[in-house]
Amino acid sequence: MRALLIENALVAGMRSADDLHPAGAVWAVDGVIQALGREARSAAANAFSRGEAVETVDAEGLWLFPGFVQTHIHLCQTLLRNGPDDLQLLPWLRTHVWPGEAAHDEETLFLSARLGLAELAAGGTTAILDMGTVRHTDAIFRAAEASGLRVTSGNALMDDPSTNPPELFAETEDALAEGERLLARWHGGAGGRLRFAWCPRFAVSCTDRILREAASRARAQGVLVHTHASENHDEIDLVKARSGRANIEHLRDLGIGGPTTVLAHVIHTNEAERRLLAADGTAVAHCPSSNLKLASGICPVPDYLSRGIRVTLGADGAPCNDRLDPFSEMRHAALLQKIAAGPAALTAWQVVRMATAEGAAALGLGDVCGTIEVGKRADLVLLDPSSGFARPVSWRDDPYGPVVFSFDRGNVVETRVDGEVVFHRDRRPARALAPTAGEIEAAAGRLRERKTGTGRREAALPLEEGT
Ligand SMILES: [Zn+2]
Repeated sequence: MRALLIENALVAGMRSADDLHPAGAVWAVDGVIQALGREARSAAANAFSRGEAVETVDAEGLWLFPGFVQTHIHLCQTLLRNGPDDLQLLPWLRTHVWPGEAAHDEETLFLSARLGLAELAAGGTTAILDMGTVRHTDAIFRAAEASGLRVTSGNALMDDPSTNPPELFAETEDALAEGERLLARWHGGAGGRLRFAWCPRFAVSCTDRILREAASRARAQGVLVHTHASENHDEIDLVKARSGRANIEHLRDLGIGGPTTVLAHVIHTNEAERRLLAADGTAVAHCPSSNLKLASGICPVPDYLSRGIRVTLGADGAPCNDRLDPFSEMRHAALLQKIAAGPAALTAWQVVRMATAEGAAALGLGDVCGTIEVGKRADLVLLDPSSGFARPVSWRDDPYGPVVFSFDRGNVVETRVDGEVVFHRDRRPARALAPTAGEIEAAAGRLRERKTGTGRREAALPLEEGT
């Protein structure tokens, strides 16, 4: 039995804005929360009296939140960080991201995923939805297994020969077979921490057939569908030219939509598309830093929320951010709406909900994590309001504003998944360890060499410069 007591923290359970417990306590056994508050303390006292080993954390002065959930990540792109800064989506994909992804071998992809997972854990992220890449996606699952984080991923489906580079392309049948293989190998692995999702890259990269197959197989298998949608006007125009439909309508025509679908970005949508999203229960992964850096636009989050559309948060890939940091995403999500929709259009409480409970629900993990309550896994982040420059926090009655606006990764003390430490600021945990600087530079060098090597062509997106 693995018993854990965290006591004396301000516990923010995230079920409601007033789910706040000063000097709170959490009792978890074998990674599952069994009791809170007074009951937690008495359960621990009983265990002590029986002579059982209990890991005890005195969290006096600290804040305990559910671990952050990021619903859109590309672990394969971590080694592509600090690439070109001044491009829009399609030229950026064509010139940097796709050639970079295509250059991966199993080893560089494993290292890229390890680096990303270590960064995520250091920022208090405990669960992610990752888009995978076309080949070697086992390496992402292997890194996820070792890291201790809760990871859903799958091979990115890119089966349209007219829009994808030949180096980052898989025939429809091959891509589907690879998905089935990954599902059989990894789904439900590591005690349920690892899950498979069907990941068509975006409508531009995919044939109608693979989009339809991904949707129907996901439904039959009870797994998620994850794709990008309506991030950029040029992308939307390409879909319109091919299908004659608005992007969300096109995806819906092929079966993609509903509560087990997570669409990344969803910035530029018309009234009919918004109605579809609301009626379907499709979740949106809002990635504000990425949207700013790629000049994509501002997601109409308050409008979506007013329609009952579930909105969650993700950092997207490292090269369009260039951080995998939930604090950056929360801050940008909140600040953007102050300009776009007014100063009170999106509260700090709503933003933290997006980064926790809403994210978990979108991933089908609403019964597993996202709030601190009895029966859920002990996926937790312990925050120190006195570290860094977040003080004073005494002007407020609640911790949500400081978490969104003044905290950063420097405020994270430790991150736990299933009650196990995956990151600790003062000691090396057994899991989610970052590769060494030497390993990172060596792998990035190999990737750079292959990416720019002779014979490598740019992606075949039908674009001209300046778009
Ligand atoms: Zn993305």
